[in-house]
Amino acid sequence: MSHQELIERVAAVVGRDACLCEPDEQARYLVDWLDSYHGRTPIVVCPGSAEEVSAVVRLCYEAGVPVVPHGGNTGLVGGAVPSASGEELVLSLERLNRVLEIDATNYTMTVEAGCILQDVQEAAAEAKRYFPLSLGAEGTCQIGGNLATNAGGNAVLRFGNARDLVLGLQVVLPDGSLWNGLRGLRKSNTGYDLKHLFMGSEGTLGIITAATLKLFPARRQVETALLGLESLDSVIDFFDSTRGELDEFLSAFELIPRVGVEMALEHLPEVRDPLDEPYPFYALVQASTSQTSLQLGEVLEAWLGKSLEDGLVTNGVLATSEQHARTLWLLREGCVEAQRLAGPSVKHDVSIPISRVPEFIEKATRAIEERMPEARVVAFGHIGDGNIHFNVCAGEDQDRDAFLAEAPALSEPIYEVVAALDGSFSAEHGVGQQRREPFYTYLGDVDRDTMWRIKSALDPKQLMNPGKIFYERERCDAPDYGKDSMRRWN
Ligand code: FAD
Repeated sequence: MSHQELIERVAAVVGRDACLCEPDEQARYLVDWLDSYHGRTPIVVCPGSAEEVSAVVRLCYEAGVPVVPHGGNTGLVGGAVPSASGEELVLSLERLNRVLEIDATNYTMTVEAGCILQDVQEAAAEAKRYFPLSLGAEGTCQIGGNLATNAGGNAVLRFGNARDLVLGLQVVLPDGSLWNGLRGLRKSNTGYDLKHLFMGSEGTLGIITAATLKLFPARRQVETALLGLESLDSVIDFFDSTRGELDEFLSAFELIPRVGVEMALEHLPEVRDPLDEPYPFYALVQASTSQTSLQLGEVLEAWLGKSLEDGLVTNGVLATSEQHARTLWLLREGCVEAQRLAGPSVKHDVSIPISRVPEFIEKATRAIEERMPEARVVAFGHIGDGNIHFNVCAGEDQDRDAFLAEAPALSEPIYEVVAALDGSFSAEHGVGQQRREPFYTYLGDVDRDTMWRIKSALDPKQLMNPGKIFYERERCDAPDYGKDSMRRWN
């Protein structure tokens, strides 16, 4: 089918206005958030309903045209961007942005996939309920993208990953069939739980068009504290005892290293040094509850006081207002933004058993120091989940091009340490295009081959988001697929 014919047939389904064919209309769909991946497409299509998504995908299936699902485009592994071939249709979910139902008594809400995460949170709050998924990109990312990547974020410790917050899904399969699994049931053991296939599949098995989400009682008290600590071991000891003491009140426990604070202070004028003297590490702790019968602030204050007395922490501050809490969180979010402003970096999003996080950070940092002593390591993130964003940033005086030339070789030694400690090379961002090498290197043959069999069964023509998670079609169909030649680093 020629591109013109494809455009005509898609336009007959969704209307001409929902088809973007001009370069300036398409530009923002063809590059990822980090400006690392660029692609081309004959058409970006924005259907207005699940039925329209189904009709477009069916048309593509019949014509053999690959489809790239596109959510809020905040993904960090190049998953929502088409290849440079110019043969893939980009399907944006942005017009599927309605809240379909809130059943407060059932503690559920049903939303279309293109709803912005923050809008989902606000709609839940209006119904006096709480939807806990929360991440730095929440003003832009879509719930469909969150589920397709099984996003993590700041509240995993208490509420789990995105997949733990879902009761039902509606999905358009690669042949265009519409599967309606939108049910608000907490119990239904009726064979395979299909919804879990699609969460975390990064658009390679189908297009999520709607979801029924779990809600929780509204948070009536939220307390935030920032503590200064002398070593990584003391961060873990403090986490261990805090988790035991605060139990279900503890909703976030984040690590910020001094180097991250210094970068934020240098690049972001709104950031302030949080304590009266610098510490090598900071723990950002959030506790929350729906209860009103206890004073959470007093509980946290008493716990922090005891931790100071016992020498678990050296210094700290408990937020005295919502604004104060926001400035503490700004330090955590600013750590990410400041790295972007500070120059090039190589990012890793790994998870390690919590008890072994200090060992991981020490060994991986040493591996980088041996290879590139001038680089700056910023290891931060959701330490309460064992999820560390281990970023290697160019040194202040390092030549940008020299850094970029050597950067690709910096990941392998880090992933070797992760593998030796029984960790994961991708904690929450997924595989996309960026992490395909470690996917082929570190995943077991049986894991990968089982995934490939599922992919081949659901998407026999390999049209759904090709080249994401798995290599391109030709490479996967080759006789040596999955063999040693595929496991080497390029
Ligand atoms: P996109 O980027 O549009 O797409 C991501 C993938 O999902 C692609 O493979 C795409 O093809 C597929 N996809 C999108 N929509 C659908 C759909 N409806 N059906 C099927 N497939 C679909 N991630 C975390 O997990 N935790 C964090 O704390 C976190 N913090 C972040 C902070 C910042 C500042 C930024 C920029 C990103 C952060 N991320 C984080 C990464 C990103 O926000 C998440 O991966 C998010 O879930 C992606 O949602 P999206 O709508 O932007 O998806």
